[in-house]
Amino acid sequence: MEMGSKKRIKGLKAQGELYKCPSCDYQDGFHVSFKWSKKSSDGEIVLICPNCHSRFRLGWNVSISKSVS
Ligand SMILES: [Zn+2]
Repeated sequence: MEMGSKKRIKGLKAQGELYKCPSCDYQDGFHVSFKWSKKSSDGEIVLICPNCHSRFRLGWNVSISKSVS
């Protein structure tokens, strides 16, 4: 179970242009949120559909500079 939501984060293939929600066919893109590791400064970008609130992950990892915290 993921923190912050009762719904599981679904996997999404990174291919083509990504603007359409596979769950509800909403076509105007996604909101963006970040899921941070507790142990490091690494995180993963999570996309949220503004229409049906499904959450998706692409394995899109980010890290932040240690000078900002
Ligand atoms: Zn949707």
